[in-house]
Amino acid sequence: MTQTPPFNQRRKRPCPVCSSLESRQLFRQSFQEMSAVAFLNGYDVVICKQCGLGFADDIPRQDVFDRYYQDNSKYEYQHTGGKESESDESRFRAIAETLARSVAAKSSRVLEIGCATGRLLALLRDAGFANVQGLDPSPGCAQAAWDLYKVPVFAGSLFSIPASSNAYDLVISVGVLEHVEDTSKALDCIRAVLSPEGLVYAEVPDGSRYAGRPDAPYQEFSIEHINFFSTVSLSTYSAETAFALFPLVRPSGSRTRTRPAPRRLESSKKPTGLCPSNGMKLQSPVFGATSRNQQAWMPVSGA
Ligand SMILES: [Zn+2]
Repeated sequence: MTQTPPFNQRRKRPCPVCSSLESRQLFRQSFQEMSAVAFLNGYDVVICKQCGLGFADDIPRQDVFDRYYQDNSKYEYQHTGGKESESDESRFRAIAETLARSVAAKSSRVLEIGCATGRLLALLRDAGFANVQGLDPSPGCAQAAWDLYKVPVFAGSLFSIPASSNAYDLVISVGVLEHVEDTSKALDCIRAVLSPEGLVYAEVPDGSRYAGRPDAPYQEFSIEHINFFSTVSLSTYSAETAFALFPLVRPSGSRTRTRPAPRRLESSKKPTGLCPSNGMKLQSPVFGATSRNQQAWMPVSGA
């Protein structure tokens, strides 16, 4: 168990999207009852005055979280032999189908960050992506992914992705970015292993829809969730880090589709047509009418 001194590493946290230090406190979330098993006993839920992002302030630095996820992962699903829940299974199937429709090149080299026991990667492989690789802080997850699905997984954090230049054409981050203290460094690390025209698929809980969650609203304000992205702030985050939005193509009849599917890329040879040189004109993405936001990003050329 992590035995990190909980309070001596705290400071005013810059906004995870725009780096502003100007924020307004909404309330103090307390985990007092859990202090014996956790590395923090509460945090301030604040709103950035500059960009409107909600986030947790007065929290430890990234390395404390890294040790927590390495040593205390609950994503090994030990109680079910490494299998995820039924709801996660159906969610992963929907994501795999969306990515199979949105990414034409099945030869794409795929990396999922925070892959847990590898189910999504196994589904992507079934959908035709032969070259899949996982990364998870928990060695137990890495072992389970291999045992269950023969999916190879590096044991490590996204801040320690094994160095290999331009290694991946598609980097997937499902349910990860809301956990990350150093969000700026996170996308730098992803960019370092992304091919020049590679894609990042990101999915996070939708902070504007917490009220609709079965466990609303406080499950989202957990010791693990420290960034509360909305549709707008997730888009701002990608733009601030020089990624342009890439349209997702959802399965026909998808219950999560809220507007007509955007046009596909007319040619995979012209991806920069969706990626203006200033990088700030955001394309129209599709957002699910669920409790989660999903976006795909591509690097802005020359950034
Ligand atoms: Zn901000």
